[in-house]
Amino acid sequence: MKIDDKGWLVSEDGDPVLKQYPTVRTYELAAPAPLGIVWHYTAGRGGPSFAEALARRAQTFRRGVDRPASWHVLVAKDGAIYQSAPFTVGTWHVGRPGVIAGRRFDNINHATVGCELENAGRLRKLGDRVYCWPYYVNPEAPEYERRPDPHYALELERAVVTNEGLFDAFTATQEASATVLLRALASRFGWTREVSAYGHVDFDSPRKEDPGPIWKQTVLPRVLDKVFGGGAVASASNPGAAGQGG
Ligand SMILES: [Zn+2]
Repeated sequence: MKIDDKGWLVSEDGDPVLKQYPTVRTYELAAPAPLGIVWHYTAGRGGPSFAEALARRAQTFRRGVDRPASWHVLVAKDGAIYQSAPFTVGTWHVGRPGVIAGRRFDNINHATVGCELENAGRLRKLGDRVYCWPYYVNPEAPEYERRPDPHYALELERAVVTNEGLFDAFTATQEASATVLLRALASRFGWTREVSAYGHVDFDSPRKEDPGPIWKQTVLPRVLDKVFGGGAVASASNPGAAGQGG
């Protein structure tokens, strides 16, 4: 996977499915090129065609009607990558101040790439099933009156126990696609491991907790190892492999 001069991904042999759904929800960057990436999850039920439909819906913007949100890329559970904006502009994925690559920005959207991952996020076990947001038929009711909504029930095996509670698992194909994507971005923009690891939660906690502990603690470190080279342990135990890949 490569990035062309206009900031769009271009697929190569063996790459994941890649489609463009250009959005109007963009603005200028405050740097000549993006300085890092912020990972997000979509939350909600998802499912076949969910990600593509989400990318389509985000192409236009009706003030006062649509949620003012956008992102550059969305990686579906099946590994497909949907690009909504070129990396030469900013998108509306965080909207908070913060420090990126050692520089402070009033709005980090002006200096970062936003990547959404299709994932149901935090889950709740209610009875013998697990549910994703908004969990209930009547979420506004007092707790003792709430009834789980079967529409938001997920397969039990997707629920992963973490030190922060139950969360939806990411798929292997999604992890592989995120790796291909990050490799293209990091090589094009000269990113380090550090600027490739921001999460929405780092800039808007406790309001936002995405991309969640599974991505932060387990999946992303593996992706970073593949893109930037493995940790000291791996190279020490297998010196023959040192210097390869990357
Ligand atoms: Zn987010």
